[in-house]
Amino acid sequence: MKVILANPRGFCAGVNMAIDSLERALQIFGTPLYVYHEIVHNRHVVERFKKRGVVFVDHIDEIPSDSVVLYSAHGVAPAIREASVKRNLNAIDATCPLVTKVHLEAIRFAKEGYTILLIGHEGHDEVVGTIGEAPGSIRIVQDEHEAETLDLPTNAKLAFLTQTTLSVDDAEVIIKALRKRFPHIVGPKKDDICYATQNRQEAVKELVPDVDIVLVLGSRNSSNSLRLAELATSCGKSAYLIDSASEIDPAWFSGKHTVLVTAGASAPEDVVQDCIEYLRNQFDAIVETRTIREEDVSFNLPKELRSLTVLS
Ligand code: SF4
Repeated sequence: MKVILANPRGFCAGVNMAIDSLERALQIFGTPLYVYHEIVHNRHVVERFKKRGVVFVDHIDEIPSDSVVLYSAHGVAPAIREASVKRNLNAIDATCPLVTKVHLEAIRFAKEGYTILLIGHEGHDEVVGTIGEAPGSIRIVQDEHEAETLDLPTNAKLAFLTQTTLSVDDAEVIIKALRKRFPHIVGPKKDDICYATQNRQEAVKELVPDVDIVLVLGSRNSSNSLRLAELATSCGKSAYLIDSASEIDPAWFSGKHTVLVTAGASAPEDVVQDCIEYLRNQFDAIVETRTIREEDVSFNLPKELRSLTVLS
C-alpha cells in the first residue's frame, strides 16, 4: 500500500489559537473553567479538555455567576455576550478572527439597510453566531435551489456573505445563482471561505486523481472535515470521515493500493499519525507527503489573555 499524506491538513490558525487560549486560561484560572459550545468541533480535543476539568455548555445559564467562560472558535451572538455580562462572567473570546470578519461585514451591511443572504448550514454554531449580529436582516441560503426560489424582488437591496467552512465549489454555484437572480447583489469579492478550508480542499482536489481511496480524519460535526470527504466522493473516490484509526474497516482497502490521508482543520496531528501507524502495521504502507501549499498564518491570543501572566 502507498499512502499519500496531504499537506496542508489538520489544525488551522484559528483552531491553534482557540486551543492555546483554553490551555492558557487553564494555567491562569484553573478549574472549573467553562466553554460555551465545543472549543473546536473535534471529539478528541473536547474529551481531552473534559478530562482536565473543562466544562462545555450549550447555555450560558448553566454557568455559575462570577465564573470564567471561553467562547469557542466559531463565535457567538451578541445575546450570548449580554447573558454573560448579566451573570457577571469573566468572558474570554477565542472566536477566530476570520469569523469575526464575517460578523463585522454582517453588522455593516445591516446598518446600511441591506437584507443579507448568508450562505451556510442552518444550525451550525458559526451561522447561529453571525445571524445573531443582525437577526432581522439575515436569511440563510443553503443551496442553489434556495437561491433560485427566494421570495424577494429582483431589485431588492441585497448583500451576501458565506460561512467560512463551506465547499468552495458549492459556494461558487450558489453565488452565481444569486448574482443571476439579483444582478445588484453586493458581497465580498469572491466569498468568505477561509484560507484553511480552501487550502485543504485544494489539496484533496489535486491529489485525489492519484489515489484509490481517501481517509479524512475529523469529527462528523466538523463542517470543513465533512466537506473534504464530500469533495473526494464527488471526484469519484470512496472516502471515509473517521475520528480515529479504530474506526477503520480493513475491508475498505480490498483491491485498493493508494490511499490519500488528510484531516479537517480541527483534527489533531497525533490522530493522523496513529492512522498512518495503523496503515504501516496492517498493510506495510509506505508514506509520501505531498505539499500543495505552504501555510504561515497565525493569530494572537484573545486580548483578555494577552495581559495576564501565569501564576506558579
Ligand atoms: S477553519 Fe478557518 S475560520 Fe474556522 S477556525 Fe480555522 S481559520 Fe478560522
